[in-house]
Amino acid sequence: HAKTKGHNRIDVFDPVMLQQVRDRLHLEVELRQAIEQGDFALYYQPIVNLRSQSLRGFEALLRWQKGDTLISPDVFIPVAEETGLIFELSRWVLHNACEQLQQWQQRYPKLQSVGFTMSINLSANQFSLPTLVSEIQQTLGHHHLAGQFLKIEITESTLMQHLDSACEILAELKAMGVRINIDDFGTGYSSLSYLRNLPLDGIKIDRSFISQMDRSQEDLEVVHTILVLARNLHLDCIAEGIENTTQLQLLRSLRCPSGQGYLFAPPLTPHKAEVYLQEHIL
Ligand code: C2E
Ligand code: MG
Ligand code: MG
Ligand code: MG
Repeated sequence: HAKTKGHNRIDVFDPVMLQQVRDRLHLEVELRQAIEQGDFALYYQPIVNLRSQSLRGFEALLRWQKGDTLISPDVFIPVAEETGLIFELSRWVLHNACEQLQQWQQRYPKLQSVGFTMSINLSANQFSLPTLVSEIQQTLGHHHLAGQFLKIEITESTLMQHLDSACEILAELKAMGVRINIDDFGTGYSSLSYLRNLPLDGIKIDRSFISQMDRSQEDLEVVHTILVLARNLHLDCIAEGIENTTQLQLLRSLRCPSGQGYLFAPPLTPHKAEVYLQEHIL
């Protein structure tokens, strides 16, 4: 069998690989169709102030509605990135998240006075798009939204990969009032000096640390260290993936300002998110 010949060889006749290539092509074709047909939805996950338990905002998370099943972005975002379909998909996300926020701001004027924000995720590819900033500016303008209500999440590895362009882009976004958060913090390799120099609003502690912090002393120490770092640099901090009250209590004792996770709510359909809004803001 091809696999036993040498572990570094890529043999195109390997049936497993061939199947993977077929699956991948199939996914690409289906993804293209889904974009044409608009088979996507945004789900909204609450971000909560851990001290007061009040609602600070939503993170918009993309879902592919393929018939009766919801497909996770972890499955299709990589394919969308490789094929360039991510640009169209991201434009759709930005537009829809802004449209939804505008609707909710109109329906519930209190959202503006409490500074309720909408967070969206940016993909690495978008940082090489010269029109990124103007697209965001136009979309905000189109929906009559002030920049301060939009938060952009970029992963630590994206930031480090595109440091040159990122500096400029982040500065331009900051000038529009848009907030910038580093996503999945702790999983990449940030140079601490960039944390200090970039116009960042906050960091999101990766779920992998939060999920183990109630069992692993090391992870608890990492979370503690990130929180001290954030405080010293005057950065906001959001703990991702809080699932139980032990984690919540630990985070509160470490004075972590905000969190998100199944303990509060999973990503919600627009309708359920609106009900959550009514119950927690009004
Ligand atoms: P992320 O931005 O780090 O989003 C957090 C992920 O953790 C979400 O997965 C969310 O559903 C999940 N999560 C939240 N709380 C909990 C919890 O308590 N326990 C567990 N086990 N999971 C929790 P999701 O929605 O599957 O998204 C996965 C990733 O896909 C996101 O990670 C983000 O990097 C990417 N993504 C999602 N939407 C978009 C988008 O519109 N554009 C781009 N470029 N990427 C997106
Ligand atoms: Mg995110
Ligand atoms: Mg994350
Ligand atoms: Mg992630």
